[in-house]
Amino acid sequence: MRINTSHITSIYIGADGCTLKADFENGKGCQIARYDVDRFSKIALNFIGIVVRNKVFRCKSCGKIYPEYVPDVCRRCGKELTEEMNPEEARILRPQYTDLVEKVVAKKGLLGWRVLRTDDTERSAD
Ligand SMILES: [Zn+2]
Repeated sequence: MRINTSHITSIYIGADGCTLKADFENGKGCQIARYDVDRFSKIALNFIGIVVRNKVFRCKSCGKIYPEYVPDVCRRCGKELTEEMNPEEARILRPQYTDLVEKVVAKKGLLGWRVLRTDDTERSAD
């Protein structure tokens, strides 16, 4: 089966533990493969992970990648990544990130994250 990985936003193991699934940019998902033993799907996930691209957050100060969520303080360099909000704001708003947080497109390989490009091309020039 051929898959155009450039349109895949995420690849994950299904809830049953033995199917490999993918989400595409157009919002559709599909089952890539099914395995009898769940460790086979984990091996396949590592392999496909080399070419999967994701939109992730990056700390501009030290370059640490945060694929899921941004912590209040960078775990590597200790700089503040979110703005202080009063509890009322925090309840209704999404976290406000400081200028140190940028959104980038990165791919995860066996050696960790590699940034392919930033969304904001003007900013990446400096
Ligand atoms: Zn940092």
